Amino acid sequence: MYNIEEFVSRLSREEKKHLIQLLSVDDMNESGRFENGNYCPYCHTKHVIKKGIIRKHQRFYCLECKKYYTVYAKTILNYTKKDIVIWKNYIKMMFAPKPKTLKQIAQELSICYRTAFNWRHKILKMLNDKFMNDNLKGIVEADETFILTSHKGQHITGIKARKRGGASKYRGLSHEQTGVLVAVDRNKDIVSEVYGTGKISDTQVVKVLSNRIDKESLLITDGCIAYKNFAWCENLKLKQLKAGKSQGNGIHLNTVNSYHSRLKRFLYGFNGISTKYLNHYLAWFKFTQQKNNDCGFLFNNLILQ
Ligand SMILES: [Zn+2]
Repeated sequence: MYNIEEFVSRLSREEKKHLIQLLSVDDMNESGRFENGNYCPYCHTKHVIKKGIIRKHQRFYCLECKKYYTVYAKTILNYTKKDIVIWKNYIKMMFAPKPKTLKQIAQELSICYRTAFNWRHKILKMLNDKFMNDNLKGIVEADETFILTSHKGQHITGIKARKRGGASKYRGLSHEQTGVLVAVDRNKDIVSEVYGTGKISDTQVVKVLSNRIDKESLLITDGCIAYKNFAWCENLKLKQLKAGKSQGNGIHLNTVNSYHSRLKRFLYGFNGISTKYLNHYLAWFKFTQQKNNDCGFLFNNLILQ
């Protein structure tokens, strides 16, 4: 067997230092980032060279735009001081079939609660930015659902805190209910976004759905006038169901309504969600509903790209 100790003992001080650096560099291929060759993440040229090590990662220098970067440039891992293994374990726990709470995650990974909280939202923001751009086609069902508004984490005078879950003291639609518009097609592509409070308006429908539905689609909604105006503006075929009642022949709102109930069940599993972050949780739930929802996929395709 090759005698490593003997080999190392023959190295100069400088060579030893270099060897340590080489050994501590993360395996670049593991991340999949440079699978198609190493290119500059800023100007996309392949005109790049290796230039030193920074925080245990190989650093590169772009000869075109003169910028430095590592394998994590433009990802949430870029400025993190924590080890990538902690991030991977974090994601594993977060996206487990039964997600661990922030408190549990913080304890198990020996990170502080605030860090666990910030990471959750960094990851969800990334998910929201990169994963919520579906376009819908074919038969598209659209309908609103309402989630109890929560000012958790914000100090607003004049609003009494409600116990977890709780019930709104107002009946029907009110400012205490946050409206979420969900549209799904039969390929399981999904658009879901907070639109505001109360009954949905023309502009709110446009804001969420404009340019997201293929022109050849059939849009199915309840009798709300805002959808009628939207379909007219976008030149879409529209079928409106009175009181949401199904008509047979696949003309129903069952897909979107079942999505609503699963979404609510998912949201109820958390200890109250601040309305400010509701879009993040919509992205999280949407991710759990995809075919490719394992954390390896998430890590390679969303976090590292
Ligand atoms: Zn460049």
